[in-house]
Amino acid sequence: MEQLTYLNDLDEEQKRAVLESTGRSIVIAGPGSGKTKVITYKLLHLLKTGVKPSQILLVTFTRAAANEMIERARMLTGTDLDEITAGTFHHVCNLLLRKYAPKVGLLPNFTILDEEDSASLIKHVRTNVLERHGLKKSFPTHNVLQKIFSYSANTMTSLKEAILKIEPKFAQHESIIEEIYREYSLEKRSQNCVDYDDLLTFAVQLLESDHNVLMKEASKYVWVLVDEFQDTNILQLKLIEMLSSVHGNVMVVADDAQSIYSFRGARFENVSDFMKVKGTKLFKIQTNYRSSESIVKFINVMIPGKAVPKVLKSVKPNGVKPKLVYVSDPQQEAVFVTREVLKLIEFGFEPSQIAVLYRSHSHSLDLQIELAKHRIDFRILSGLKFTETAHVKDVLAFLRILQNPKEKISWIRIAKLFPGIGTKTASKLADFAAVCPETDPVKILEKLGEGKEAIWQMKELFELMQRQSRIDAMISVLNERFYSDYLLNNYPDHFERQQDINRLMEIASRYSSLERFLTDLTVSSDVNDETKPKNVLTLTTVHQAKGLEWDVVFVLSVNPGDFPSYYAIVDNNIDEEERIFYVAITRAKQHLYIIKHGVNRYSSIYWLRSVDFAQRIPKKLVEEIYFEG
Ligand code: ATP
Ligand code: MG
Repeated sequence: MEQLTYLNDLDEEQKRAVLESTGRSIVIAGPGSGKTKVITYKLLHLLKTGVKPSQILLVTFTRAAANEMIERARMLTGTDLDEITAGTFHHVCNLLLRKYAPKVGLLPNFTILDEEDSASLIKHVRTNVLERHGLKKSFPTHNVLQKIFSYSANTMTSLKEAILKIEPKFAQHESIIEEIYREYSLEKRSQNCVDYDDLLTFAVQLLESDHNVLMKEASKYVWVLVDEFQDTNILQLKLIEMLSSVHGNVMVVADDAQSIYSFRGARFENVSDFMKVKGTKLFKIQTNYRSSESIVKFINVMIPGKAVPKVLKSVKPNGVKPKLVYVSDPQQEAVFVTREVLKLIEFGFEPSQIAVLYRSHSHSLDLQIELAKHRIDFRILSGLKFTETAHVKDVLAFLRILQNPKEKISWIRIAKLFPGIGTKTASKLADFAAVCPETDPVKILEKLGEGKEAIWQMKELFELMQRQSRIDAMISVLNERFYSDYLLNNYPDHFERQQDINRLMEIASRYSSLERFLTDLTVSSDVNDETKPKNVLTLTTVHQAKGLEWDVVFVLSVNPGDFPSYYAIVDNNIDEEERIFYVAITRAKQHLYIIKHGVNRYSSIYWLRSVDFAQRIPKKLVEEIYFEG
């Protein structure tokens, strides 16, 4: 089969999966065994054998991952692949909803609330409802409410069940919580906006309720490919099944041992449910191509308790044993990692090939300080994203209002930037805009007819922005006429913030559609990634490290309470923590450091040995190091 030489860098097991010509298949395999590679080559193979780009749906954990796969395939096929529908579930749902917005009661120019905006809308609704009922204390905060709503949406369970799962002590408030939920939903409708969970929920509702739409969309996709299938929730499973229902060609890849998003409703039962459907073919790959032999040996014994047992073979040389490092406290942990990083870089490792992983973002604070002291640059995959910072959100709020002048959150955000406008006036303005029949912010402000200088100034800004045809030019006039002065007067670090605004303009200059620009900034992380420096050390939570690999990996604070997390221990949810730990250690190619410090941040609790991951590690598989600073 000479014409298939492009499959030569696959092994026999991988090749079999790629060559499976039609129908449903699932590849189940351990970390680093080439699952993502199989999906990439499947894509390539489909294109080489005549499937058109527009007939393929490719779903990945991040937009960046999809782009990488497509870029590989583009290089190898030499064809333009813009017509592939590719990205995260949120992205795919957004495309669907833009197309059929009125069918789910939205206008096509709807805007998407990020988590912070959704939380502030819930907060606003919560205050109103509580006031109405004369309630104040011992009630879930807006953040808890957000968790409850989100859990209910992503698991398709009732609010009641979600409350019992998230905060059982609030079960007595069920009816009030329901009222807040109803009002929150109504608010979003009247403001023509959706939150992240709505993207999935509405897309499923659309396809389930309208057979014509389902037929039209599912007919388009001759092939559906899904990476990281073990972390899909019930809505996502439904989407995959529905969108592949006409042609029946779907390939998913999964590792049940790496299912780590149950808090977002991911159910690894999706794997067995998917397999149960008649005719589904199962493929296994048993070789790990990522890690050195001594790391693979270690991985094999640390396989999570409840996972399907897997023994991976390694093909790489033995290498050095993973290191289990004991330090006295978090500061010493930071000192150790920094010294080691400096040594590794001196030894020739690229900073971009080194990563520090942790269970929770706060565990990296000492390290961030220590790295800064030594002038070691780093990027943080998790933590506050570029688009979540206040100044970037301010600028985006103006653009969001130009896109959808009903969105109250953005009106309030904008209004409060102007002197003389407080929360009350801002809310009044937002309420007015949401019900005003005008669809142009300038006209809305005119109708409002307030004599306030600030309102007049706002109106003028919108007029100037509207006159621009390019998005970067809109930001530029906003900046020159108003926002750069605002930064100067309000932030001591205005210089850095101004740089971010400049970067935002740069990104905007590549877009011609305001809708696309705003959506990309809200639902996909690669725009955020672009704003980070390249060849530098990576700091990230394990959750964000999914699917990625580095030559050198440090795992911080493997202490009961930190990793496994305190809440997991209290809730007796150690299974998931075992999987998270497994994801962490399987990212390393050559060097793996597991660090344990001597401080119990939760001293009031007596720890069982069984939740101490460091104690579980068979000592003959690691080199133990006692670091004295
Ligand atoms: P994870 O479970 O972490 O997502 P994965 O199963 O998706 O891992 P990949 O990321 O596809 O694994 O592959 C891991 C590494 O092994 C990559 O660097 C990839 O290029 C390499 N690799 C995969 N298959 C082969 C092969 N047949 N020959 C050589 N290298 C391979
Ligand atoms: Mg992968």
